[in-house]
Amino acid sequence: MIIDAHAHLCRKPRDLDKIAASGRLEQVWLMDVSGCELSTNPFAAEAEILQAAKDFPGFFIPFGYLDLRLTPDNIDRLKENGFFGLKAYRPEKPYDTPEYFPFYERAAALGMPILFHTGLLEKCPYEQMGQNLSYGPTNMKPAQLATIAAAFPDLTLIGGHLGYPWLEETAQNLYYYPNIYHDLSGYRKDIEWLIKNLDRKCHDGFEKRYFNDKVLFATDALCYGNEQGHRDAFKLMDFWEMFLEMIGGNYYRWGEPEEREKILSDNARKIYTQFI
Ligand SMILES: [Zn+2]
Repeated sequence: MIIDAHAHLCRKPRDLDKIAASGRLEQVWLMDVSGCELSTNPFAAEAEILQAAKDFPGFFIPFGYLDLRLTPDNIDRLKENGFFGLKAYRPEKPYDTPEYFPFYERAAALGMPILFHTGLLEKCPYEQMGQNLSYGPTNMKPAQLATIAAAFPDLTLIGGHLGYPWLEETAQNLYYYPNIYHDLSGYRKDIEWLIKNLDRKCHDGFEKRYFNDKVLFATDALCYGNEQGHRDAFKLMDFWEMFLEMIGGNYYRWGEPEEREKILSDNARKIYTQFI
């Protein structure tokens, strides 16, 4: 079974029971980005994400929007309301700005992993989102996670996507920081990089760790809760299972069956069980 470690829910979601009972998915980690007020996407509200998690406990895992325009005590509210982790997206300043440190300190103390979007992102014009957020990707570079990971070794950071076009920064995150993971959703030109890099060895303080011990399967660019989204999710699961088996299985160490399982679910399950 698969864990989708970076996913979204649409407004007024339907047929979630079908997804939960599909037998393909063990968990879906739902990221709330409603705080950005994007009118370009039909993303669910915070309450809808919490409701899905309540209706399907242990299956839909909710991540609350880490709004860096507010104060760190908002994270306590998210934790009390049932959010397992946090999602950082479109900060007004670079992720590693020291004034954001109290937020990361709070998340670490509460045992909430943070999934940070990294790299290129959807274009969204000025009038179509909330104020004091970022439009382009330069406040969301993978290397900014390294600063946070070093300052807060107890915090678990997941770089959303592989951080294109800054793939070498992503490589350094995986190589050197034991508390940084990345998910493979997003721009699929990254596949060339994945093929060549998944077998690279880490030097992060653990014995025998490779990049594929720190990469998580994810869908991201679709919405659970409508028919099209569900079709797209199954298509992506089919694609990645085939890719890992037919390309990896034939030519690379990361394609061996037990290594593929790490990417599809084991790595994410380890993070989940650490904080539940
Ligand atoms: Zn996302």
